[in-house]
Amino acid sequence: MASESEIIRKYFTRPEPSAVLGVGDDCALLAPKPGMMLAVSTDMLLAGRHFFPGTDPGRLGHKALAVNLSDLAAMGADPRWALLAIALPDADEEWIAAFAKGFFALAERFRVELIGGDTTKGPLAISITVIGEVPPGLALRRDGALAGDDVWLSGATGEAALALAHLKGRVELEGEAREACLERLHTPEPQIELGGRLRGLARSAIDVSDGLLADLGHILEASGVGAELAWESLPRARAIAGCADATLTAECLLSGGDDYELLFTAPPSKRAEIEAVGRDLALSLTRIGTAVAGEPVVALRDARGELIAAPRTGFDHFA
Ligand code: ADP
Ligand code: MG
Repeated sequence: MASESEIIRKYFTRPEPSAVLGVGDDCALLAPKPGMMLAVSTDMLLAGRHFFPGTDPGRLGHKALAVNLSDLAAMGADPRWALLAIALPDADEEWIAAFAKGFFALAERFRVELIGGDTTKGPLAISITVIGEVPPGLALRRDGALAGDDVWLSGATGEAALALAHLKGRVELEGEAREACLERLHTPEPQIELGGRLRGLARSAIDVSDGLLADLGHILEASGVGAELAWESLPRARAIAGCADATLTAECLLSGGDDYELLFTAPPSKRAEIEAVGRDLALSLTRIGTAVAGEPVVALRDARGELIAAPRTGFDHFA
């Protein structure tokens, strides 16, 4: 049975760190690029709460880091470092090796360096802290939206939630739709390049982790504005458009969660530049509505301008 320090050395230590000092001492030492601000965020994943206990460890390694990187993306920050605190029920080396493989494959893609953490025995839980850099004054905060801003969404929402509905037996997905949705749920892609390119273009941004309406609500609350959304203009992935259960798809689109798309606002004068960013990154960016003066609520309207009552406003962790 591997000891704690063997596990750390074997699976969580990489040669030649670019940090001044990485894994192995009491603290890591970092040298941020001169003049840059640090952006720091933590997200915790618990077995049975955020993922099924038997989840494939490689996917878990990917997802645990991806959801954290998504927060850096939403801030417009460039990822640099990560810390990994992990509780493991036992020293199952096969499991740990697969987890590390998924984690480092994503980390290497975005040049994120693991600089430390904590390893302990206990019910499976993963807490990752990410550290990124952003030029002063250019971070994409939640409180910057102004009335008149366009509301934009990258990609489309709902597929991860539809996958979850499938796994829970609420709907039966097949073929390509099933693959696409499960891929979205298990291996989300953090929109790092997009976040970086939106610096100086977007006035506010958030990543969609708790559902489109709930996360837009966070921008509206922080910014003190309302929003008008057009139901018809919400982008729909093929699996969502092709699903026969209209109630379920509406719920997934609006309140699903686990999407990790970027939701942002920008003045109409930036439309052409934002569209060019979408083309450069081969990402679909859709204008889904407008920020308006008034209470921080979302008014969702159909093609005739009639108000559609939103089914739910998202996933509340304590509901
Ligand atoms: P301490 O007792 O001082 O907290 P630890 O034995 O917990 O030291 O950790 C030793 C070193 O290994 C530290 O540099 C720590 O940051 C690092 N470390 C521990 N667990 C992990 C992990 N899961 N991933 C990366 N680094 C880790
Ligand atoms: Mg420790």
